[in-house]
Amino acid sequence: MTSFSSWTPIAIWAPAKAVSGIGPYLGVRRSNTPQFFYAMVMNRTDEEWKRQLDPQQYKVLRGKATEPAFTGKLLHNKEKGVYVCAGCGTELFSSDAKYDSGSGWPSFWTALAKDKITEIPDHTLGMERIEIKCKNCGGHLGHLFDDGPQPTGMRYCVNSLSLGFKKKDTK
Ligand SMILES: [Zn+2]
Repeated sequence: MTSFSSWTPIAIWAPAKAVSGIGPYLGVRRSNTPQFFYAMVMNRTDEEWKRQLDPQQYKVLRGKATEPAFTGKLLHNKEKGVYVCAGCGTELFSSDAKYDSGSGWPSFWTALAKDKITEIPDHTLGMERIEIKCKNCGGHLGHLFDDGPQPTGMRYCVNSLSLGFKKKDTK
């Protein structure tokens, strides 16, 4: 899997509009303008996502599927570290906010930063829910509920397939 977490922010030579759809690797140079970098990640085509992600991850991150409950490999992960977006490597949740909700999906009572996650009203399946997405790459993460523990009372219910895990260096 291509890792974006180690990328230096880069800017696009041409206006973002002009390069939309031709992929993230063409016509770029280094600069210190992170928003251009974000714009490029967002411009990845469906074909590129298909190539980067394994088929199960693709279904969840790009197709908003939900993995079966109690199947995720990070569900019972108790290690200290940071949970990142499986699509782009953005750091999303801390192990300190992870708890066992009994739902069958990794659950967090808060995100590392609210501005890393997009909340979208979701009326599918006859339910009123809030979908959560990675703001950087638009990858589907899961849903946000208000039945979590204090201090927030929120439950970020996230597919294990949408996440990667970076273990904290304890050396
Ligand atoms: Zn992402």
